[in-house]
Amino acid sequence: MTAVPSLRARLLAWYDANARRLPWRVGPNVGRAPDPYRVWLSEVMLQQTTVPHATPYFLDFTRRWPTVRDLAAADDGEVMAAWAGLGYYARARNLVACARAVASDHGGVFPDTEEALRVLPGVGGYTAAAVAAIAFDRPANVADGNIERVMARLFAVETPLPDAKAELKALAARFVTADRPGDWAQALMDLGAMVCRPKAPLCDRCPIATDCRAFGQGEPEAYPRRTAKADRPHRHGAVYVLTRGREVGLVRRPPKGLLGGMLGLPTTPWRAAAPTRAEIAAAAPAPADWRAAGQVEHTFTHFSLTLAVYRADGEADLIWTPADEAVASTPTVFAKALRLALLSAA
Ligand code: SF4
Repeated sequence: MTAVPSLRARLLAWYDANARRLPWRVGPNVGRAPDPYRVWLSEVMLQQTTVPHATPYFLDFTRRWPTVRDLAAADDGEVMAAWAGLGYYARARNLVACARAVASDHGGVFPDTEEALRVLPGVGGYTAAAVAAIAFDRPANVADGNIERVMARLFAVETPLPDAKAELKALAARFVTADRPGDWAQALMDLGAMVCRPKAPLCDRCPIATDCRAFGQGEPEAYPRRTAKADRPHRHGAVYVLTRGREVGLVRRPPKGLLGGMLGLPTTPWRAAAPTRAEIAAAAPAPADWRAAGQVEHTFTHFSLTLAVYRADGEADLIWTPADEAVASTPTVFAKALRLALLSAA
């Protein structure tokens, strides 16, 4: 392993020449700081999803709510609908809570230290470090999945994830200095995304390959080591698509819990055993000629789900929404069921 300054210099030079162009980013050597609101928003959106998936949402959010004050003043339901499809809906609720805290407690200006950012609703250690480093050039230790992977390979860390997280973070801290901390974090993120990829890393193009133990051992993909995952439990339920002309009947889900506060379709509870015919009949939102339209599969973080989809025309006390709007504004699991039901009716 060569010295930290040499490795840093090579990776920063690589970043200067190869930085990804991202809508929330101000590239290296531009001489202007990025907008903390955009950095924060992008970091929240990018947790657990990819840049291509998050980008249209980021552009839509910043068009509708160009500043943190605009987002703080937004209608909760509109924000939740705009978030639909990004998953992890508690995050959308925290997003609005955080924007309101910045607007009311900080005069609409994001605090500029990791400690102060950490106090904001929904801002965890990772997000606070990322915003402090990228938006305010603070020497914060940012350790996302990309950076963990690079560290695991660079040092051939044998401890498997997730146990290795603290060790990988401590290794990443060795490289953080007051010189270009925001660019350093983003250089590591870009290396992880573009070169030190999860599969088939491009070691022949890597500016730090001479330092990399996993590369030296000839098996970079063997790192990070992982413990075998326990199987996800599987659940079953039924979901109801009641139509009235071109409209679909939706419900607002309870504020707490999975998909809390989102618009969705009426459903049975989701349990290990498939619902019985009597349970399916009892949970229907209205007496109607319910027809089976097939089933959809969906995977959440902690369980996978099979939903039997039932469709009927009828009346009930529901939130009547144009079908295309319902597909666009409900979480993915319901959008899948809607597409299937509407297709079966076509
Ligand atoms: Fe990753 Fe390969 Fe570079 Fe090592 S040499 S850091 S495995 S891309």
